[in-house]
Amino acid sequence: MMTTDVNKLYSDLRKKIEAIHNKDELIIIDKAFETANSFHQGQLRRSGEPYIIHPIAVANILVDLGMDYQSIVAALLHDVVEDTDYTLQQLTEEFGEDVAILVDGVTKLGKVQLNSRETKEEQQAENVRKMLLAMSKDIRVIIVKLADRLHNMRTLEFVDPQKQRDKALETLEIFAPISHRLGIRSVKEELEDRAIRFLDPVAYAGIEENLKNSSRSGNDFLEHTKEKILERVHQFVPNAQISGRIKSVHGIYRKMYMQGKDFDQIFDIYAVRIIVDSVVDCYNCLGIIHDMYNPLPNRFKDYISTPKPNMYQSLHTTVIGKEGVPFEVQIRTWDMHRTAEFGIAAHWKYKSGVTTTKQSFDDRLQWIREMLEAQQESGDARELVSSIKTDLITDEVFVYTPKGDVVNVPQGSTVIDFAYAIHSAVGNRMTGAKVDGRIVPIDYVIKTGQIVEILTSSQQGKGPSRDWLNIVKTSQAKSKIRNWFKKEKREENIVQGKEEVEREFRRNYIRLSDEDYEKFIKRLAERQRMETVDDFYAAIGYGGVSIIRLMPYIKEEYQKNYDKSRFEVKTIPVRDNSKKNKDGVTVEGIDNCLIKFSQCCNPLPGDNIIGFITRGHGVSIHKRDCTNVPKDLVNCAEPARWVNAYWNGNVKEEYKATLQLTCLSRVGLMAEIATQVANMRVNITSISTHDMKDGRTIVELTVNVSGVDHLKNLISRIEKIDGILLVER
Ligand code: MN
Repeated sequence: MMTTDVNKLYSDLRKKIEAIHNKDELIIIDKAFETANSFHQGQLRRSGEPYIIHPIAVANILVDLGMDYQSIVAALLHDVVEDTDYTLQQLTEEFGEDVAILVDGVTKLGKVQLNSRETKEEQQAENVRKMLLAMSKDIRVIIVKLADRLHNMRTLEFVDPQKQRDKALETLEIFAPISHRLGIRSVKEELEDRAIRFLDPVAYAGIEENLKNSSRSGNDFLEHTKEKILERVHQFVPNAQISGRIKSVHGIYRKMYMQGKDFDQIFDIYAVRIIVDSVVDCYNCLGIIHDMYNPLPNRFKDYISTPKPNMYQSLHTTVIGKEGVPFEVQIRTWDMHRTAEFGIAAHWKYKSGVTTTKQSFDDRLQWIREMLEAQQESGDARELVSSIKTDLITDEVFVYTPKGDVVNVPQGSTVIDFAYAIHSAVGNRMTGAKVDGRIVPIDYVIKTGQIVEILTSSQQGKGPSRDWLNIVKTSQAKSKIRNWFKKEKREENIVQGKEEVEREFRRNYIRLSDEDYEKFIKRLAERQRMETVDDFYAAIGYGGVSIIRLMPYIKEEYQKNYDKSRFEVKTIPVRDNSKKNKDGVTVEGIDNCLIKFSQCCNPLPGDNIIGFITRGHGVSIHKRDCTNVPKDLVNCAEPARWVNAYWNGNVKEEYKATLQLTCLSRVGLMAEIATQVANMRVNITSISTHDMKDGRTIVELTVNVSGVDHLKNLISRIEKIDGILLVER
């Protein structure tokens, strides 16, 4: 049964391919299928289906996007290297270098290659970096990867809830922005919609419901409007074609929960799209539309004269008719339409139709190289992830230079970001800014339509200020500022870096003799691949290396090799349970004993703790302020049984903590909580909600944290979420 299914699936795919690709290509595609099918033999998807359905589905998505045969071959083989015995070398020999690059680009870094100390976040970042590097060599890598992710999102219901959230978040934060940046609209919208369904199921269902309720009347409205428009437009532009669409769930979600609008306040739920033959016709149609309907102020956007960074071009306007329903009108040529739908993929799909020269194609991928270059400066792959999250986000604002040139920058950009977007030299010499002719503070956030003028000093010397790093929004500006400090202020950086290191050491009770300190720092510098200790200080000084991120490793090293205080303990005779203490707690005077954490107060690393020698069950650890611990340990019932206990610094285990959140009930809240928690790299082990009758919701959240500081951090993040009234532990 199963085998016939697979063959049927493949022959359906093959029928589509036959129409597009030639015989020679088909032979290789067949061979790829057979190879993948035999190597994945016996493996199952989480859904219980044979594994091979996944590569077939990925290939199918790529066929629909119009990708070339090598991408399809790579799609069929994309998991063999990661998941089977088939090696990259075999693949290179049998399918050639090009396909091997594609498959290798989507293959995750092996676990062995990653340092075991690296966190999940760092691993993700390293994988993203590997992918971007491969992308910069061959952009098809990411298109195959996006298709892979799309099919995994389509089948996400079969994996466990924690993984669902992780994957959905990663999709929303990394893969949707990349597909947006590449202009592949259909993939981007589906990725976003599916991610939201898992991250915020309640809101998703709400929007679907709203859309369903308004869909009958909405469709009637769209039909009627299209007819009316076409009647007029055809008198002047006979070839114009028109279609209507309803906004995507995620698009509505963003407006509702990120911009705080009501469903009824969203003006572009309905959109009408007019496609014409020439740019002149676009502007003609715009005139007709504005003659027929009243345009809403500030809603007209000319993406024809100023294309979006992903090359999207169209005229947008929002108008309102007699029915009182506002709707968006998008006007574009066929060429623009292909780019709008398929983005970079149009390059393969419309080989002849689209006028893409090699040069302009390369220009369109310049951003990938820029991102990689900025990241190389710092050596921290996580910066890549954060630039994807911030710089590739969907919304940008358009502002004008005093000369009238249009510059687009990510939404939320300050005047400093603007200055650096124009040129590093402008940013570095900036002394202030004017918006619409008035002086503004340097953290001023610019809005679409404003005229921004950067005031610069004529003399070289001054340069940016370190505070700017906390003000700017784009990682592009950030890395340009850091670069300046790196180059111009080495001496200052060394001093600043040294101070930072010493401060962090003091804060973490790391005490070393001068001699040990030198040895210790030298090792640290070497581990960061720095040639000298001064290089290391300088890197910290300009922000290329974060000392705070290094602290866990530093503390561990310190405790292992230098911390003598741990051994200066008195000896108290106690029964040796010969069970090794793995819980990260040292009990004074007792080397090996059974440790258990008391249920009454659930101590966490960082809490002040004390041990109680039980009768026959080792030592139970309480918080010092637990109600079961006597206040006065000298004059209590059995003073001899209370012993001092400490947390070992290098606590690796995770601890459960339960938080009770009191919040104002609102849709979208759970997604925000989940996002904040995931951002902290905290796993949720359980979550439950109780709606109170008074409009409040009690959320009980059990999480795994690595200690009290971690938990405190998490709490303060959660407290900042809109609508959270109280967080209790
Ligand atoms: Mn896959």
